[in-house]
Amino acid sequence: MAGLSFFASLCIRRFFVVKKACPLFIFFIFIWGTLFSLVACTESSDPEVIVYPRDREFYAIFPNDPKLGDSIEANLATGIMMIVHPGGHYTLSFGVDPTHEAPKMQLFRSYKQRDGERYGLSKMKTLEPKISGDHYVFSFVCEENERSSWVLTLVEDDTYYRGKISDVKFEGSGSYSDTLSLNLISVGLIDPIEGAPSMDSLSRLLISAFRKNYTSIVIDTIYVNYAEKHPSLGEKYPADRHWHAESPSGDMTLSELGNWPAKGVTEALDIVLVHRIDELNSLGYAGLFASNLIGGERSTVVVGSHVLSNAGERPLAADEIVKVAVHETGHFFGLKHTTSTWADLESYQDLSILEDGFEDTPYCPELLQSGLYKKGSPSAKSDYSMPGQVYRMMDRSAYGVAFDEDSCPDAYLFMFPVSSDKSMREFSRQQLKFLKQSLMLIPH
Ligand SMILES: [Zn+2]
Repeated sequence: MAGLSFFASLCIRRFFVVKKACPLFIFFIFIWGTLFSLVACTESSDPEVIVYPRDREFYAIFPNDPKLGDSIEANLATGIMMIVHPGGHYTLSFGVDPTHEAPKMQLFRSYKQRDGERYGLSKMKTLEPKISGDHYVFSFVCEENERSSWVLTLVEDDTYYRGKISDVKFEGSGSYSDTLSLNLISVGLIDPIEGAPSMDSLSRLLISAFRKNYTSIVIDTIYVNYAEKHPSLGEKYPADRHWHAESPSGDMTLSELGNWPAKGVTEALDIVLVHRIDELNSLGYAGLFASNLIGGERSTVVVGSHVLSNAGERPLAADEIVKVAVHETGHFFGLKHTTSTWADLESYQDLSILEDGFEDTPYCPELLQSGLYKKGSPSAKSDYSMPGQVYRMMDRSAYGVAFDEDSCPDAYLFMFPVSSDKSMREFSRQQLKFLKQSLMLIPH
């Protein structure tokens, strides 16, 4: 019903504009009565038909993701959301269908309505493709001041393009720095961590792991901050109380703590350390392509010093906390798991995304076949705001299924979905290239 009322209001608005415009043209015709005016009126009264997206929820894509999934092909003409950043240069391409005319692309910007709750769409521009080989290529620059979500439709004869869509690629390049700083934010009481007697020593382990593994970018500095010292929120996070993420705070990413005015910290990646995450077997989480280094919603990576299991709390050693932070930061910049779990598939709402799409990362069909299953986020689809799903890293004990994860050919990669003692040691070359491309698109 919400969709219906949305389109009803659009139709009313368009009708209203046309009604107002016509008497104006009649007035001109009456005064001058020239053929020129008649032609002008004919042209002006036949404006471009705006082909709004069919639905209110969209599959979202972000640049340079090598595995977009076949839901993107299926929905590209009728409405797909793109996550874009200021100054980014983007191309979207797909195969030519010779049985159809070349489509045009209509681009829409999503904006928050006055009530601050709902989102609307405003038409920005219409693009025509260039043809490169046997592909259509649409190119555009994001001229926004901040990270934005745009929606596109493909148009043929004033309605959705009906040609076959295949081999979709969305690429983006930015010119922000390839240097990243980290900001470790300790929240509430953190019990002594095995292997890191102080927060400073944990921060040294973190930065050396980031420098060792994020080799395609420059890891500059790590700052350490304490939530209890936050100028306005400090009282909410007392230093003598364990903080459980997801409760009692409504802001599960604790993003309100990020980006507070401390010198140099404002454009660092905020890694929030809490006592534990209040979800069974959850070691950490971050938004997929959260891509926000300047504070606010989805600007943090959350890790726990303990994990909640059926047997109670298990403390994590420093090495394990660091590993979780490295993995979750990969998601933050847009890396998917090398092998999808059932939870991922549920979250993507696309059964074609069985692996991450990189040619140099193996994947492990046996992992999926083993029946490993954890409930994921509700949906990869998004309304006009940013996609809301977060990607959790799960403790291997969570699955309770007899399966040797370490036998998987991708277990050595950081983006393997299950943590174990032997797993997660490096990124692949293509993943590293992707990470650098993402960082350079993100204002910081
Ligand atoms: Zn993960």
